[in-house]
Amino acid sequence: MFRKILIANRGEIAVRILRTCKELGIETVAVYSQADETALHVKWADETVCIGPAKASESYLNMKNILAAATTLGCDAIHPGFGFLSENATFARLVETCGIKFIGPSGDVIDRMGNKSAARELMLQSGVPVVPGSNGSVRTLEEAQTVAEEIGYPVLIKASAGGGGRGMRKAFSPEELENAYLSARSEAKSCFGDDDVYVEKLIENPKHIEFQIMADRFGNVVHLGERDCSIQRRNQKMIEEAPSAVLTPELREKMGKDAVRAAKAAGYENAGTIEFVLDSKQHQYYFIEMNTRIQVEHPVTEMITGIDLIKEQITVAEGRPLSFHQEDVKFWGHALECRINAENPQENFRPCPGVVKGLHMPGGFGVRVDTALYQGYPIPSCYDSMIAKVIVHGATREETIARMRRALEEMIVQGIDTNMDLHYMILHHKDFLSGNFDTSFMEKNLEKLVK
Ligand code: ADP
Ligand code: ADP
Ligand code: MG
Repeated sequence: MFRKILIANRGEIAVRILRTCKELGIETVAVYSQADETALHVKWADETVCIGPAKASESYLNMKNILAAATTLGCDAIHPGFGFLSENATFARLVETCGIKFIGPSGDVIDRMGNKSAARELMLQSGVPVVPGSNGSVRTLEEAQTVAEEIGYPVLIKASAGGGGRGMRKAFSPEELENAYLSARSEAKSCFGDDDVYVEKLIENPKHIEFQIMADRFGNVVHLGERDCSIQRRNQKMIEEAPSAVLTPELREKMGKDAVRAAKAAGYENAGTIEFVLDSKQHQYYFIEMNTRIQVEHPVTEMITGIDLIKEQITVAEGRPLSFHQEDVKFWGHALECRINAENPQENFRPCPGVVKGLHMPGGFGVRVDTALYQGYPIPSCYDSMIAKVIVHGATREETIARMRRALEEMIVQGIDTNMDLHYMILHHKDFLSGNFDTSFMEKNLEKLVK
């Protein structure tokens, strides 16, 4: 059993992890930057350590300082959350070198799956359907052109190290390819310090369907069903739901089996997500990537399965077997999550950091809010704009949508701009209500919705 865990993250996910640690009787260490001295995760942890200045590269990405804190305070394990160091193989290895458990897969597994073009190769070999594309990365424009001609336009140029919807460009014709190739490369370089890119066929107007995986070190791999994350803006998720309104039980079983196969091929341990795009007209799905960490939208899976995923992560990291088998996983009802960001959709989603002057969180039956906000909290400008996740659970999709509308009506965040009204509008759109939507929904409807 772990006695003390360091949480190498901030914001709502740090608070989310703290909550489970408290319930398990595990002591917690919060790390924070100088911009986060007043943050909630710092107030709630048993011990706290400042690890550097506001800039993430000098604090939340500062491996040396985080490891120094963990070893000095005698931590048994480090939970990386998502973003920051969560998918950094070097960090995972360094943590283990210090005799501390990294709550996630090993550095080797992160390497294997974290590089998206390498992961594609492994999936191809294991018989998991993969989007047609290049074998590994492409090193020149000519190579990209050859692949694009082979698989046919439109194509996507994607950063091998990509994440958060960055480093990705579409090309609908040979004329557009050069621009797409060069700008994907340069964004990849500036965001990830790695300009390696690969080519994939652009599946037009697909659904984003992903499967939650849990695996232990004894080779047990279980999936916890899917999440439909098709409501995205610029390849970034806004609303997630489980189950998907379009999967038949047969397709769910088939995709679930492939997700388990994918995790097994990777020699996976701990929580992970296998992402697919689903061409709903063709009933064909394709692997796009694996996220080797807990996901932002993990709560929707928790709501319909009743399983605390952070607790399971800790259990398997302690070297114990998963607390359930595939046949024990039962799904109940429907869950939705809205990502609330401090941004102004009317002004091209300009980030709106600032002081939270007034705050009222929704409640009642089936409503959960994961947030690190409190009244008077100054939202810093140097990090991600996501400030809260509103998650609701209901018996049916209809009831769940009604509940989310009601929850958003109750929620008050004063002093800053948010995307709450935009969420509210989406929850009234006929295509969202009918389930007849795909990843093009926001692009198609944004202008009207924002007005
Ligand atoms: P999820 O698939 O869990 O929804 P996202 O892709 O939205 O994850 O990313 C979650 C968080 O992690 C976001 O804040 C995003 O900016 C950040 N993130 C994801 N991947 C990377 C990466 N490779 N490098 C830096 N930040 C990342
Ligand atoms: P990230 O690591 O940034 O999350 P992904 O590979 O998961 O990158 O892609 C982000 C989003 O872009 C997906 O959720 C999907 O909506 C879209 N996308 C990615 N690959 C394709 C593809 N080949 N065809 C169509 N859409 C895609
Ligand atoms: Mg993704």
